[in-house]
Amino acid sequence: MSSNIQSIRGMHDFAPGPTELLRVMEGKLIGVLKQYGYQEIRTPVVEKLELFKRSIGEVTDIVEKEMYAFEDRGGDYLALRPEGTASTVRAGIQNGWLHNQQQRLWYMGPFFRRERPQKGRYRQFHQLGVETFGHAGPDMDAELILLSRSIWRVLGLPPEHLELQINTLGDPAARAEHRSKLIEYLNDHHDRLDDDAKSRLESNPLRILDSKNPEVQAVVKSAPLLMDYLDEEALQHFEALKSQLTALSIPFHVNPTLVRGLDYYNRTVFEWVSHSLGAQGTVCAGGRYDGLVEQLGARATPAAGFAIGIERLFSLVEEHMADQAPKLSAYLVALGEGSSAAAFALAERIREQQPTFTVQMNCGGGSIKSQMKRADRSGAQVALILGESELERGLVTVKFLQQDQPQQQLSLDQLVIQITENSLGV
Ligand code: ATP
Ligand code: MG
Repeated sequence: MSSNIQSIRGMHDFAPGPTELLRVMEGKLIGVLKQYGYQEIRTPVVEKLELFKRSIGEVTDIVEKEMYAFEDRGGDYLALRPEGTASTVRAGIQNGWLHNQQQRLWYMGPFFRRERPQKGRYRQFHQLGVETFGHAGPDMDAELILLSRSIWRVLGLPPEHLELQINTLGDPAARAEHRSKLIEYLNDHHDRLDDDAKSRLESNPLRILDSKNPEVQAVVKSAPLLMDYLDEEALQHFEALKSQLTALSIPFHVNPTLVRGLDYYNRTVFEWVSHSLGAQGTVCAGGRYDGLVEQLGARATPAAGFAIGIERLFSLVEEHMADQAPKLSAYLVALGEGSSAAAFALAERIREQQPTFTVQMNCGGGSIKSQMKRADRSGAQVALILGESELERGLVTVKFLQQDQPQQQLSLDQLVIQITENSLGV
């Protein structure tokens, strides 16, 4: 016997129950985005490999080792998208959404990185991404932080659950100067660096600041801080953001080692970190990328955004959302010759009259006993029973499955009226 085919490592199925809750959660996220006046876009899951190389950076973890890249049958080099900012900028330039315009955009969908699978780290994962264009000021950075905080609020996450960390990466000139000082310093401590850090020394020294190795961390502790090289304008931008956050009573922690793993960021970067998720604690990460639009070939346009890891967020809220799963309103039991057509007609009539009332039809016949068993298993609030005697008299029996309430017999019209008026009590 051949063995069953399994899904790809790090790529997961969602069972019906969790998927329903995920939908509820996504609905709440979308509600917040609407409240803030953001518009949804959709872009392809596959893009030209070059797009990610040119935007995320050749020597980042994502491009160097995490991308699903391949040559297609026509000889084009393509990649499954590892993140959404590059695609958004590409789409914005290509379709003329950015030129002389302000945009507040969002998207949600699957992303792909060939990482070592572990809790909170998958090879197919989902992100809610938010990207804004044409806003240069720190007020937009504050709006993005406020928006993300509203998401935690509507999901019922207590404020102390997520810590806001912010930092500024300054502008390219300051970064270049800091970079050379940093390389000099790290070279002076070369013997204490691990192989990974050594290999990053010339290519992407900023990334070493992010190392998880305690020995490297100890070296990094006294490394030159980018903060000390920032120019006046970038510093003012950061100060203004901090004042806005303080005025809004949003607690934050300035983390000078927060650098982000993608090259395109400048000035403000931020993360929301949960301490209850273990090592993979960053639920939301973002910042400014004022240079990316120009870098991809269009006129310079300031931009800022963030991405939320849907799986990480879901694991924080899934447990206390259990009671928010949508419940089936009714299971329709149809007994005897000719009842099936009448039952279908009744179910259709109810669905037309009351779109929020959900009806599941019994398909495949069966005795009253086996149909009632299915009704119980469906989790429905009521069983609507259409037997031969009911059919003859134009009645339907309503049996309450979740409440201790006597069953009722109603005419079909009465039933439909009660359902439309919401007076059935389910
Ligand atoms: P990390 O440091 O955790 O690898 P990152 O800097 O690579 O994160 P981003 O590219 O900024 O992450 O993605 C934004 C968010 O998407 C992360 O904060 C996280 O919540 C989520 N995320 C990123 N990679 C994965 C993954 N492989 N599996 C699940 N979620 C992920
Ligand atoms: Mg990563």
